[in-house]
Amino acid sequence: MFDWLIVGAGFAGSVLAERIASQRKESVLLIDRRNHVGGNAYDCYNETGILIHQYGPHIFHTNAQSIVDYLSQFTKWRPYEHRVLSAVDGKLLPIPINLDTINRLYDLDLTSAQLEDFFASRREVVEEIRTAEDVVVSTVGRELYEKFFRGYTRKQWGVDPSQLNKSVTARVPTRTDRDNRYFGDTFQQMPAGGYTRMFHSMLNNPKIKIMLQTDYRDIQSSVPFRRMIYTGPIDEYFDWSLGRLPYRSLRFEHVTRDQEQFQPVAVVNYPQTEDYTRITEYKHLTGQKSPQTSLTYEYPTDVGDPYYPVPRAENEALFKRYEALAADVADVWFVGRLATYRYYNMDQVIGQALATFARIQKGLPAANALQAEAAE
Ligand code: FAD
Ligand code: UDP
Repeated sequence: MFDWLIVGAGFAGSVLAERIASQRKESVLLIDRRNHVGGNAYDCYNETGILIHQYGPHIFHTNAQSIVDYLSQFTKWRPYEHRVLSAVDGKLLPIPINLDTINRLYDLDLTSAQLEDFFASRREVVEEIRTAEDVVVSTVGRELYEKFFRGYTRKQWGVDPSQLNKSVTARVPTRTDRDNRYFGDTFQQMPAGGYTRMFHSMLNNPKIKIMLQTDYRDIQSSVPFRRMIYTGPIDEYFDWSLGRLPYRSLRFEHVTRDQEQFQPVAVVNYPQTEDYTRITEYKHLTGQKSPQTSLTYEYPTDVGDPYYPVPRAENEALFKRYEALAADVADVWFVGRLATYRYYNMDQVIGQALATFARIQKGLPAANALQAEAAE
């Protein structure tokens, strides 16, 4: 009899497995239907010996020192600040939009103060900012919205930005200085040996047994366990009884080229042309040296593994109904990006898992991890 069954070996499941095994000394069976741990953060060396991210670029960034301290038990770090260029009107321009973006796009020589006036003259008055379109047009105006955001968002999500919650494009700031980093967080570093190595270090505990290529459905009645943590899609847990929650998927095309460098930065976005949204070149993330280079092209799709919850009011309403079902299931904790239907970054999922663990330590009843966060 295992003390815990944990479904999903991504950040949510692995952090909880590590905490439960090391702090409570209880036994954990950690399962994943994939053939590896790490969830979507999984990385591996390809046939050329280049470290690639199987599920697209994962850049670690956070403002929470407690989360850095937690992960630092399992990895050393490599300084890396993420920079992204966007292919707009035949130029490669910094995104988030900043002073250089505008000066280079329009062949201007504005100062930061003049750029503030430039945005002020172009931004639209939006009574209540609700959608992913509202956020951008109310900050930089419609023309820049159309060049940098509308096409990318339509490709990425399969719907117009006016159909998505404001939180989607609010992830990308607008700057009037020359800061060309993608993230503004205080801590921006990559696990020095990669994510998968960090996961193996977290899970290296005799109290944790790992079973890969194992679906919860196939073992739920045959493996005895006392309590459970579920990090898969919440609608799937309930056999889609209330209908399907939409999750956006991606098809990844991994390519290796016989050239040392393909593009000037790790990620180039394609908001106006191409079927893919972005190309990632991994050597920029790792600093690896090689005469060859490995890239990933991301093609958004509705079919395939669930990668992104789709932030829209109607989806949130359906999630709330599943959340109500989850509240009635004793001794099962729903944690992570798929089970709490939140467009969370890695650090947010780790924070959610640690908050859940704190509730478990206090002997509180099982709940949705969002309640654990709210109680923090
Ligand atoms: P997951 O990593 O999805 O893990 C869930 C696991 O559960 C999966 O491995 C799945 O196989 C398993 N599972 C599901 N159902 C079952 C079942 N029935 N039986 C057995 N196993 C099951 N975050 C950042 O901070 N920075 C980034 O740069 C970044 N880039 C991203 C890029 C892409 C393309 C994507 C998709 C995400 C990105 N993220 C990034 C987000 C990051 O991937 C997530 O926040 C994090 O990995 C979520 O962890 P999780 O454990 O909740 O879910
Ligand atoms: N986005 C955009 N153009 C860009 C970058 C982002 O329109 O050049 C929008 C798009 O809707 C995207 C969202 O902003 O899905 C969030 O971007 P982020 O880079 O955070 O996406 P992720 O890395 O999570 O896929």
